Amino acid sequence: MIALASGASLASVLRLRSAPAVQTEFRPEKLGIALLGLGDYATNWLAPAIAQSTYGKVAGIVTGSPDKISTWQEKYSIPDSGVFNYENLEDIASNKDIDIVYIVTPTGLHHKFAIRALEAGKHVICEKPMAPTAEDCTRMIDAARKADRMLQIGYRLYWEPHHTRVMTAMRDKEFGKWESLETAFAGRMKDFDDPKNQWRIDKELGIAGALYDLGVYAVQAGFYTTQQHPIRVTATSSTDRKEIFNEVPEHWDWELEYADGRKSIHWSSYGKNGNHLKMATAEGSLEIERAYGYSGQSGVTPVGKMSFEDVFQQTRQIDGQLLAIHRRNANVVPGEMGRRDIRLINAVMESADSGKSVELGKFDY
Ligand code: NAD
Repeated sequence: MIALASGASLASVLRLRSAPAVQTEFRPEKLGIALLGLGDYATNWLAPAIAQSTYGKVAGIVTGSPDKISTWQEKYSIPDSGVFNYENLEDIASNKDIDIVYIVTPTGLHHKFAIRALEAGKHVICEKPMAPTAEDCTRMIDAARKADRMLQIGYRLYWEPHHTRVMTAMRDKEFGKWESLETAFAGRMKDFDDPKNQWRIDKELGIAGALYDLGVYAVQAGFYTTQQHPIRVTATSSTDRKEIFNEVPEHWDWELEYADGRKSIHWSSYGKNGNHLKMATAEGSLEIERAYGYSGQSGVTPVGKMSFEDVFQQTRQIDGQLLAIHRRNANVVPGEMGRRDIRLINAVMESADSGKSVELGKFDY
């Protein structure tokens, strides 16, 4: 039987599971999703994506903003029984129309809400980055296991064709050994009065600024391109706009070293722009530009330009994740993967703080 919470085994560590193709002939009753945290991403991306999905529907909301309730109820035909707040979240247990709680709050709050939702007997999809520390991630994984519910991370790029092309090419060693790698996701932040930006540079809610919010994509890309676990990280952080970035650094750079001596470089920042994945392989370049956005990717492989059209990534992600729940399939983006990434991010922070390289030890995913 598949372990719902984990979906991962040591043997699967470096074997990428392809995202399951969405099989439109399979038409079970739609699973009900309650969105928890009704900010920009939930409102403008996830809810519309769920509304267009084959396997899901918006069946509830969990919000701390009473003024948002009527608009959501009207737009998604949510009955009063599907409306919850942060205090009465436990009551969601008795709502049989809600199968899944999708956590879309600031990062520093993910783990507490996820554990409460799992204990209420619901599957959880949790937005990236998973949680402040690897220990918090473990608590979430344990809660999922105990409740026999599935825990998945909102890693939408596992359903984006340029990225899945790179993942499978590297998994299958299509272009030989990789020689160098740079991944970067960064964006210059300007409007610091916007509540959407405020929590991102707050230590408690955003934890380490760009490194968590955007850097997690650069971390992820490192794992799925190299298909290897690094053994050592050496990192630096710095800040130019000191009057604004007084809790978290503005820029992050880190180098990873692998057991065979190869190295890769990665960066993230709220002070400059960057959005790419560039790998040199024995047979030529494998690259994605505008790599981590919701659309607009362009990529090349040693055999030419990739020619994929934009897809609605979030709808594909939702359908893939819900299909896994329906069928008790392997979890493509499990909590263990989210924890692996947080572990590396925490090592980046430790290295930048101490000025020394940090040994990464054994990974369990
Ligand atoms: P946002 O600021 O627009 O929304 C955050 C929501 O959380 C708001 O509704 C806010 O009211 C609520 N909230 C609850 N408690 C809060 C508190 N103590 N302080 C501040 N807000 C609180 O942010 P967002 O862009 O929607 O991001 C939310 C989550 O989604 C984050 O974890 C982020 O990393 C993730 N995200 C993922 C993607 C992706 O592509 N997968 C894209 C954007 C955001």
